Amino acid sequence: MKKDNLWVKWVHGKYLRETSWWIYQFPPDCNWYWKKVVQTKELIKSAPYIRQAPGEHAFLIKRAYLWLLGDRPRPSWCPLLWNRTALPRHIFTSWLFFHQRLPVRARLARIYASTTEIMCGICGQEEETLDHLFLSCDWARDFWNLASQWWPILQFDASYESLLNAMKKAKGNRRHRHITYALIEAAIYQIWRAQSSSQPPQYSSKRRISSYSEYFI
Ligand SMILES: [Zn+2]
Repeated sequence: MKKDNLWVKWVHGKYLRETSWWIYQFPPDCNWYWKKVVQTKELIKSAPYIRQAPGEHAFLIKRAYLWLLGDRPRPSWCPLLWNRTALPRHIFTSWLFFHQRLPVRARLARIYASTTEIMCGICGQEEETLDHLFLSCDWARDFWNLASQWWPILQFDASYESLLNAMKKAKGNRRHRHITYALIEAAIYQIWRAQSSSQPPQYSSKRRISSYSEYFI
């Protein structure tokens, strides 16, 4: 990972400080996505052949990534996500989204019989499926509309397949498409973050659009 990347610098300054990433444990008061990143690191540590050499505390990112993928064929959407324009935390959440592995409440209820709360964590009006939370929930729709005013994001219906197909058919040059993908990944991250928050931020049409840029960085 590039050491001059702003996010990497921020992580080192805020969390790691002088601690080795290999042995790092997250503090109890850190935010939700940082816990997920560290938990994933622990998972990757159990993989064979990912250290550079015995005793060296360094990941070989490519090996770890391939190990995580397993023997499954590489999904066609992977190149859309892994581009240099998107932030790592946005890619991480989007990667789980496109694998349909984010623990939305309807999915948790299928896995754990003890899960009783299945209504949307934001609106509380419908069952929290992947499609509802990210694409048809009023709050999410407002967020996509907001994003499309800031940058012409693709047109898609309220379904996972529609979003994926729109991304695959995105037009424009490489740079333009990467910005579009990065904004979609940022939106996915922010919607998931809102679901994890007890009080999703409220948007107002009276606010200047430029002030919303804070949600995409
Ligand atoms: Zn909802």
